[in-house]
Amino acid sequence: MQSKSSTLSVPFQNAILPGATLGVVGGGQLGRMFAIAARQMGYRVWVLTNETEGPASSCADKTIVADYSDEGSVEKFLSGVSAVTFETEKLPIDLFHEISKSVPVRPGIPFLYLSQNRIREKTGLKEAGLPVGPCMPVSGIDELRRAVTELGRPCILKTAEGGYDGKGQIAIKDETDLVAVWKELGTDQTILEAFVDFQCEVSVVAARSLDGRVVTYGPIHNTHKNHILDVSYCPADLPANVMEQTLWITKRVAEVFDVVGVFCIEFFVKADGTVLINEIAPRPHNSGHLTIEGHSTSQFQQQVRCLCGLSVGSATQHRPVAMANLLGDVWQGGIPKWDVALESPEVQLHLYGKEEARPARKMGHLTACAETVQQALQSVVDARGQL
Ligand code: AMP
Repeated sequence: MQSKSSTLSVPFQNAILPGATLGVVGGGQLGRMFAIAARQMGYRVWVLTNETEGPASSCADKTIVADYSDEGSVEKFLSGVSAVTFETEKLPIDLFHEISKSVPVRPGIPFLYLSQNRIREKTGLKEAGLPVGPCMPVSGIDELRRAVTELGRPCILKTAEGGYDGKGQIAIKDETDLVAVWKELGTDQTILEAFVDFQCEVSVVAARSLDGRVVTYGPIHNTHKNHILDVSYCPADLPANVMEQTLWITKRVAEVFDVVGVFCIEFFVKADGTVLINEIAPRPHNSGHLTIEGHSTSQFQQQVRCLCGLSVGSATQHRPVAMANLLGDVWQGGIPKWDVALESPEVQLHLYGKEEARPARKMGHLTACAETVQQALQSVVDARGQL
């Protein structure tokens, strides 16, 4: 999927070339896979993180561990890097205002800011004429009562900021006490969403380069367990017009918000074919990990290319592909039997180098390509089952 914007034509003579040092803020697995892709292409990578050295550090040339408000550390980071990206949106926006005085930040600050807050995100998408489910900002218990009456039960109250993997959200059912819910969420910046009776959840990953070229991956079919992504496969088995809608919306988001970089949109697909945006991640996404084996250019290589002002690579899919997440739960019975799982020749293992395998913690993933998505899915699920 490729389109070229007619309004943008920035030449690539200012591209940041291999040999340069790229900065990534955040030290988790997405930063690690960015660093692996960047180093493969001959870049150096510096990580700025406020956590003790994590998954990204062992694949980077340098890690600065500091509070993000520590000016000296930010200055040190900026002294070495030619451009900066991020691996999570849960970061202080002021840090990026500071960074952008010295080097490009990609994706840009407005898109990061939009996706940091569910109220801003949903409002921005609605204003752009893009489809989101019924929702209302709520900042007090009386407002919550009115909003629940308006949207009806069941519905879901979510914190505007900081939620992930189902954290920071509570389902409101017929019997749910609103006062208790309000107290439990413990913030006055929330959004109430009508419950979407979806048939499936899919995502589309996109990369847009500085010259406005957009490539898309997917839609990718996603299944969650306990609100955490469990398995993904690509392509999703949806009618062609539904697939096209998700791709069209994704390209529209890229263009309307002038994104330069990689992002992901998570969608709800209803039985009648209606597509609604659930949320946007302004960075590579867990569901896009299957692009490493499944596609010509992985989402992380695209992140490097877009950050450096290079042209986007081909997003052509080689074969049907599936991915299964490995959570810390897999370690609860002892060291997983990697040798047994890898007896299946098409199964590929990715581990993020995390020391402590806590339940629900993302530790790695398995990917497999096959003749059909069902075979690919079977391979990763079987391999995971043997661990
Ligand atoms: P989120 O953190 O918003 O991505 O939500 C995590 C998961 O909760 C989603 O992947 C859905 O499975 C479910 N969910 C979130 N919002 C809704 C909604 N409005 N209606 C139905 N299910 C939802």
